[in-house]
Amino acid sequence: MDIRNIAIIAHVDHGKTTLVDGFLHQCHAFQEHEQVDDRVMDSMDLERERGITITSKNTAVVYKGMKINICDTPGHADFGGEVERVLAMVDGAMLLVDASEGPLPQTRFVLRKAMEAGLKLMVCINKIDRHDARAEEVLQEVYDLFIELDADDDQIDFPVLYAVARDGYAYTELEQYNQDAPEGDLKPLLDAILEHIPAPPAATHDNGRVMITNLDRDLYVGRLALGRVIEGPLKKGAAVWFSEDGRKNTRIQLLYTWNGLRRKEVDEAQVGDIIALAGIDGITVGDTVAQGAEPEALERVTVDEPTIGMTFKINNSPFSGQDGKFVTSRQIRERLEKELMSNVSLRVEIGESAEAFKVYGRGELQLAILIEQMRREGFELSVSRPEVVMKEIDGKMHEPFEMVTMDVPDFSVGTITQKMAARKGLMQDMMADGSGRTKMVYRLPSRGLIGFRSEFLTDTKGEGILNALFDGWDVGVGLIIQRQRGALIADRPGKTTTYILFKLQPRGAFFVNPGVEVYEGMIVGISTRENDLNVDVTRAKQLTNFRTVNADEKQVLAPPLKLTLETAMDFIDDTEWIEITPNFIRLRKRTLNASQRSIIRHKKKTGSRA
Ligand code: GDP
Repeated sequence: MDIRNIAIIAHVDHGKTTLVDGFLHQCHAFQEHEQVDDRVMDSMDLERERGITITSKNTAVVYKGMKINICDTPGHADFGGEVERVLAMVDGAMLLVDASEGPLPQTRFVLRKAMEAGLKLMVCINKIDRHDARAEEVLQEVYDLFIELDADDDQIDFPVLYAVARDGYAYTELEQYNQDAPEGDLKPLLDAILEHIPAPPAATHDNGRVMITNLDRDLYVGRLALGRVIEGPLKKGAAVWFSEDGRKNTRIQLLYTWNGLRRKEVDEAQVGDIIALAGIDGITVGDTVAQGAEPEALERVTVDEPTIGMTFKINNSPFSGQDGKFVTSRQIRERLEKELMSNVSLRVEIGESAEAFKVYGRGELQLAILIEQMRREGFELSVSRPEVVMKEIDGKMHEPFEMVTMDVPDFSVGTITQKMAARKGLMQDMMADGSGRTKMVYRLPSRGLIGFRSEFLTDTKGEGILNALFDGWDVGVGLIIQRQRGALIADRPGKTTTYILFKLQPRGAFFVNPGVEVYEGMIVGISTRENDLNVDVTRAKQLTNFRTVNADEKQVLAPPLKLTLETAMDFIDDTEWIEITPNFIRLRKRTLNASQRSIIRHKKKTGSRA
C-alpha cells in the first residue's frame, strides 16, 4: 500500500482533534464494535488546560487504497527537539487555522521548523461556518506569515482548503460552502493530501532499517520505540541495534504499525511506514535498528539536554498520607521510571539518599507538568526549588539560556520590560503591531524564567503568549535577586484563627485562610521583612478582654495569596520543600522545628567563619 506521512500543525482549539476524528469516521477506521470517542487524540486534560500539546501520537487512515499516517506535533517549544523528531517522520505538513482567529504565534515555531525541514506544506482554513469567519483575510495573514518565515517559492505556493471540521466538510473553494444548506465531506482535503504530499523516499536496498525518533509506552509491553522505516521492508526476526555505546544484537519480537488510533501487530513494515518496536531493552531516541548482512547505523538525531533539575522525594510532613494514594518512595520511583519510558527529554538520578530523586527536564514547565500529572494521579511528594544545570566549558561554569518570544497586549509592555530586566533578560527585538499587541524577544538565563510564567499570565491578564526556546550555554550572569522577603512560619500545630491572622496582617501576607490546619514548620505566608519569622497562627481571642469585641467584629481579613505550583517554585529557597498532595500545595521548612533551624543557622554562620 502506498503511504503518505503528514503532520498537522495547529493552535489549540483550531480543530485538529475534530478534523482527525472526521478522517477516522469517514475513512471507516473504526471497527463497528469500537466505541467512538469524540476526543480521540487529546487524551490529556492538562494539555487542554495549559493550551499546549505535550505528547505526539500517531493515527493512520486508509483512503483510496493509500495509508495516511497523521502525526501530532507538540505545540510547545519547551519540549525541545520533539518537534524536529516528529517532523523527521513526515514528508509534509498541514497548517490548520481557525477562520476567525487566524494564525497565532504559537504555531510559528513548529511551522518554521517544518519549513526548515523542507517539508511540503498545505493550509486548511477551518471553521468557515463561524459567524465571525474571515477566511480571505486569514488566508492573507497566512501568506504574510509564510513570507515572514522565509518560505521558499514552492512552500509559498501552498494548496489551500476550507473546512468545517466539526460537520465533516472540506472544499477547495470558499464559494463551494453554502451556509444555508451545507453539504459535502472531507474528501477534498484527503485528495489534496494524496496529491500534494510526496510519498516517502524510496528504499535504496531491502535490508530493513529504522531510525528511532520517539518513545512511547504501553501498559503491557512497556517501552515502545517509534520511528519511520528508512530502508526496508523491516521484518520481524533478527536484527542488530546501534545505540550510543555501539552495536548490540537484538531480535525484533513485536513490530507494530498504526491502524486508526490503534497499534496493530505486523510481521513486516514497508519503507516509509511509521512503526513501533517493543521488547528492546534500553533502546532510545537516535538509535538505529538494522537488518541484513552489513547493517549500518543512521546518523543520530539529537535530543536537547535537560536544563533544569528538581529533587523529588517522599512527603514526610506531619500531614503525609492524609490526602494521597501513593506516598512511598518505591511508588514515586516506579512512576518516574514509567515516565522515562516515554519522555525522552527527562533524566532521573538517585539523589542524596535512596529516597530522593533528582529529576531533570527541558525547562521548569516540563517538570511542573509532570508534578501536576502525578498529583492528579494521587501522588504525594516533596519537591525542591528548581535549579539550572551548570556545565563546565573551558574551565568556566556556564549556565543555560533561553530565547523567549512574547506576544503581549500593549498595556503590559511596561511591567514585562521591568520584570525581564530584573531577571537579566536582554531585549533582542520589540515590535508593536499597531493594533494593541506587541511582540518582544528576550534572551535570558533559564534561571530567570523560573516562576515567570504565572506572573506573565497575571500581568497580561491571560492574553499573553510566551514561547521559550533553549539558546545554548553561556558564562553565568551572576545573581538574580530572587527572594527579597522571608517566610512566615507556623511555630506550632493547630488551626488558624481569624483573630490572629488579622492581628498579624502587618507582618506579611498569608497563604492560609482562617480555620486551616497547620503544622510546625509550615510556611503560612510571606513576611514583609527579609528574614524568616516564626509566628503562632493558632492563637484565639482572649475572651476576658471584652473591650475589643466590638472592634473585632469589623475585622476585614485580606484574601490569602494564591499558592500555585508555579508561585511556589518561584518562591522557595533551598532550606524549604514544596509539599504536593492531590488537593493541596503547601510550603514548608526542611527542618520543621524552629529551635533546630536556629541551631543549623548558627552552625552555618560559625562554620563559615572558621
Ligand atoms: P484542537 O484543540 O485543535 O484539537 O481543537 P478541537 O478539535 O478540540 O476543536 C476545538 C473546538 O472547536 C471544539 O469545540 C470543536 O467542536 C470546535 N470546532 C472544530 N471544528 C469546527 C468547525 O469547523 N466549526 C466550528 N464552528 N467549530 C469547530
